[in-house]
Amino acid sequence: MNAWEFEKNNLEKVMSYSKEYMNFLDNGKTERTSCKEIVKMAKEKGYISLCEAIKKGNIKKGDKIYAINKEKAVALFLIGEKEIQEGMKIIGGHIDVPRLDLKPNPIYEESNLGFLKTHYYGGIKKYQWTTIPLSIHGVVILNDGTKVDICIGEDETDPVFCITDLLPHLAKDQMTKTMSEGVIGEKLNVLVGNMPLFGEEKDKVEKNILKILNEKYNMTNEDFLSAEIEVVPAGKSRDLGFDRSMILSYGHDDRVCSYAGVKALLDSESTLFTCVALCVDKEEVGSNGNTGMHSKFFENVVSELIALEGNYCELKLKRAMANSKVLSADVSAGYDPNYSDAYEKRNSVFMGEGVVLTKYTGSRGKSGCNDANAEFMAEVRRIFDKGEVIWQTGELGKVDQGGGGTIAYILANYGAEVIDCGVGVLSMHSPYEVVSKVDIYEMYKGFKSFFNINL
Ligand code: MN
Ligand code: MN
Repeated sequence: MNAWEFEKNNLEKVMSYSKEYMNFLDNGKTERTSCKEIVKMAKEKGYISLCEAIKKGNIKKGDKIYAINKEKAVALFLIGEKEIQEGMKIIGGHIDVPRLDLKPNPIYEESNLGFLKTHYYGGIKKYQWTTIPLSIHGVVILNDGTKVDICIGEDETDPVFCITDLLPHLAKDQMTKTMSEGVIGEKLNVLVGNMPLFGEEKDKVEKNILKILNEKYNMTNEDFLSAEIEVVPAGKSRDLGFDRSMILSYGHDDRVCSYAGVKALLDSESTLFTCVALCVDKEEVGSNGNTGMHSKFFENVVSELIALEGNYCELKLKRAMANSKVLSADVSAGYDPNYSDAYEKRNSVFMGEGVVLTKYTGSRGKSGCNDANAEFMAEVRRIFDKGEVIWQTGELGKVDQGGGGTIAYILANYGAEVIDCGVGVLSMHSPYEVVSKVDIYEMYKGFKSFFNINL
């Protein structure tokens, strides 16, 4: 069913939800800043930190708690009526996004031009990152231990950066290459300066840039070694289309689902089961590391909460995980009529047809997939129908065309019931991805129903 038709009397709600989401996108362009935004939203709704809860010494129904993992991931908990060992309702998304990271020794100059060397993060089509305005975000830990936040290129008055491309006049050789070879990883060098430090003989452009960085951030060249600096598309998210029905922005995958999960939880007050909005890092690079879904962070926080209920034992933790129900909140490939060959139309995700339930992802013969149980698929389907949510099913493209994965299987390994759920995206993993405003509204409604409706 067309979700726009269904919501035709609720367009104001659809548009205002989008507006808030776009604000979230603009304030959180990295996993760190997204995490910060989520915690800010949670605090405004009365959430307290896990440390504060531990100090208090106990938890009870209706308590609202957040736990931050190294400033890059966060879990929000709304304590339910039932004990945690009876299972949680979890909506899990990721807040890391494909991008360009600065290398540890990034700065150099050549032919009067200053550059920063990058190493791309996640799956990108490299040529898409040339000739667009870029901004720089991150943290630097100075030699004395001071942590400095860096953000250049978002304010209208800020300068921006870019990666150059070869003019068509001279691109005869480049144009015969494949799209993956036309622009290679080692050519993703960000242009950052041209003016020399006057009076210097050698490396004068580089020296001038370092002088500016030192004045602004008190940092030296060596401090890049202890920094995490990300290069992302500069500028804000924008309404897309004459009808303003879509959003063009960097980072929909997967802030669009993470935001919906957070918002659905913050708009819930009293639930039967403990409800969780989980926003993790490192999904785009395999969920490893201590901020990815494979880390023990989530388990450890749940252990702390079980301890706060009283009488902790490991068995309760195991039961809590195994009895949980999870929507692995991640985006899917929206059907793009310009590239119809890559899709199988009967099982595709269509823009404007609501939130998507994806039974399985994976590649080739479903390799690496979670493949939700039919029983759980049926349960979520009934919840969505009860909540008057417009939903569709969809595969990630046609068989043997490629594929992908999410964090679904990681929580399923504990025994939890997990299904992938999100919205269709056009131009996924590109600098500017597209979502439909009505789809993201249906996702929010679906997530809220998942938390609040028990069959
Ligand atoms: Mn994703
Ligand atoms: Mn992705």
